[in-house]
Amino acid sequence: MLSNSLIELDRAHLVHPVSSYRGHEALGVRVLRSAKGATLTDASGHQLLDGFAGLWCVNVGYGQESIVEAATKQLRELPYATGYFGLGSDPAIRLAARLAELAPGDLNHVYFTLGGSDAVDSTIRFIRYYYHAKGTPQKDQFISVEHGYHGSSTAGSGLTAIPAFHAGFGVPYSWQHKIPSHYTYRNPVGSHPQAIIAASVAALRAKIAELGADRIAAFYVEPIQGSGGVLVPPPSWLKAMHAVCKENDILFVVDEVITGFGRVGPFFACEEDDVVPDFMTTAKGLTSGYVPMGAVFMSDRVYNTIADGAGKTAVGHGYTYSAHPVSAAVGLACLDLYENGLLANGRKAGHRLMEGLRALADHPLVGDVRGRGMLAAIELVTDKERKTPLPAEADAARRIFDRAWDNGLVIRAFAQGVLGLAPPLCCTDADIDGIIERTRMTLDQTLEDRDVRAAMKG
Ligand code: PLP
Repeated sequence: MLSNSLIELDRAHLVHPVSSYRGHEALGVRVLRSAKGATLTDASGHQLLDGFAGLWCVNVGYGQESIVEAATKQLRELPYATGYFGLGSDPAIRLAARLAELAPGDLNHVYFTLGGSDAVDSTIRFIRYYYHAKGTPQKDQFISVEHGYHGSSTAGSGLTAIPAFHAGFGVPYSWQHKIPSHYTYRNPVGSHPQAIIAASVAALRAKIAELGADRIAAFYVEPIQGSGGVLVPPPSWLKAMHAVCKENDILFVVDEVITGFGRVGPFFACEEDDVVPDFMTTAKGLTSGYVPMGAVFMSDRVYNTIADGAGKTAVGHGYTYSAHPVSAAVGLACLDLYENGLLANGRKAGHRLMEGLRALADHPLVGDVRGRGMLAAIELVTDKERKTPLPAEADAARRIFDRAWDNGLVIRAFAQGVLGLAPPLCCTDADIDGIIERTRMTLDQTLEDRDVRAAMKG
């Protein structure tokens, strides 16, 4: 049994990310104890399928011995090496080179961070520097997409377009702008792919006309919007947005923090639309959550402009833990796993997951099923015709999360009644079937809730 003292210590001292502090104090923490494959065990021995791979990051699954060995060996040999003073470490150099080889086009230059937020934040600094180096510092306006998520750094949170990350924090800044999302299920132009692409292109062109192309630095986009509710654009959407940016000399930044490293099939999602961005941000699957690490990929053009602009002066951007050797060793071990069958297994499991979820489409609560590969969501409604969201006041998301937990499943329940699924790529058929079955069970139980039933009748 979980000792009460641990719950008390948590309540008194541990500040949890993106949580209602008072709400968390009231509920108390759930402590996880161990994990193997796609299965978690909590401190009371309750076993759960991890339908969300931690925070959509444990792509390789839990308990991968090769990663433990690589990290242990590196900790013994050289636990730390700075990248300052012209120094480096074997794993960091090798990882950068392997990533450059894997990345699309000429994204040949890799800057390592500690996660996704500082990867996005780094791009903002690099982009500002790039335009100064080019002699066009007036290009300082940034555009992103409604429902987008680009982390919670001071600057990146303003590119994020999720209300909780703005309220009370004084963002977005005046140089941060948004265009509407492609959100197919609720797009005012309807669900036809060409209509959605045309609407997004028109919105981006209108924003460029409003601000002036000569003032716009960059456009940020996720290939699939993750934290906004797993919103999947139509095929070629990314390509169309890229074309508009190219025409207008606007840098194109693809945020692959969730979609990278096999989450949606290939190593990087932008490959599917044949897009080579100017910057690509990654994290999560890079080290699969075993240790923290992110990576910014830069094109040859961007890198050379920055390098030539700086000349012999230092580009003043860097962290103590940039290119950490233990993280890099873990990253290399993850790449080995991806290349030796995990990416292929993820694609197979992804088909099974999507098939299983589509079979839930006729459930009375399911309004939309969407996703690609091992990144999926179902959107719950009380009226399919009108697409009425679940009653907000009853904290349906929390109830669904709790219920799924009791059923032995971890899912993400977004506040707007969207259930997110992003299981580890190592899932077996039985794991995927278990995730689907427990999701169905959770939906059936939710259907019995009095307020949900009342809303459905109304
Ligand atoms: N960008 C995207 C697309 C993300 O989904 C996330 C995190 O979920 C981030 C950036 C921020 O990454 P991190 O939480 O590692 O700081």
